[in-house]
Amino acid sequence: VRFEDLGLSDEVLAAVRDMGYEVPTPVQARTIPEVLAGRDVLAAAQTGTGKTAAFLLPAMSTLPHLAPRGSARERRRARGRGPAMLIITPTRELAQQIEDVCAHVAARTGHTAVTVVGGVGYNPQRSALKAGCDILVATPGRLVDLIGEGTAKLSEVAVLVLDEADRMLDMGFLPDVRKIVVETPADRQTLLFSATLDEQAVGSITDLVRDPARVEI
Ligand code: AMP
Repeated sequence: VRFEDLGLSDEVLAAVRDMGYEVPTPVQARTIPEVLAGRDVLAAAQTGTGKTAAFLLPAMSTLPHLAPRGSARERRRARGRGPAMLIITPTRELAQQIEDVCAHVAARTGHTAVTVVGGVGYNPQRSALKAGCDILVATPGRLVDLIGEGTAKLSEVAVLVLDEADRMLDMGFLPDVRKIVVETPADRQTLLFSATLDEQAVGSITDLVRDPARVEI
């Protein structure tokens, strides 16, 4: 399989070339067409399998530009818009890795991305959210705080990604994940990635996906 055969946008394909990816990994080859078809996905994929690009590339191929980069006037119009895509991940390090891939793709697609994680100041995150963004990458605890104070609004989320879901549950984030998900529209597309899809590991949140395509490599 080639990246060119998967249905990705020309802008995203340019980003794939920028990043030096030559062929899709197995999880990318299986996941990308399902995401582009609009389906929910339940994928068993560990770190190192290329799972980050497996959700970012197809989602960013079709994601609306609610708060695009642009002139001062365009940025004013974008205030408070978005995010259209929300990625929840358990740790700051993972959020950083996602942000890095996101930045490469966004350089081609023109999307804007914001990252909110714990352990750093609230104010820069508050102003970034108020300015509007297309993509929000977040760890659960900090996002719950920002929702609570009314700074993070998730009513425009069209694509929700639960990254390393098994690890989030292990770390005790189930209540936070549920508080976040209820803020998103019920008709969103949901992509759940976990090292394992065992009932014991992720059974408590598989109700968050609807008729998912199962990807197990
Ligand atoms: P991940 O599983 O998302 O943490 O990605 C693991 C590593 O593989 C990252 O350093 C990516 O940049 C890299 N990677 C992802 N997809 C590809 C690909 N198709 N070809 C080569 N490297 C890739």
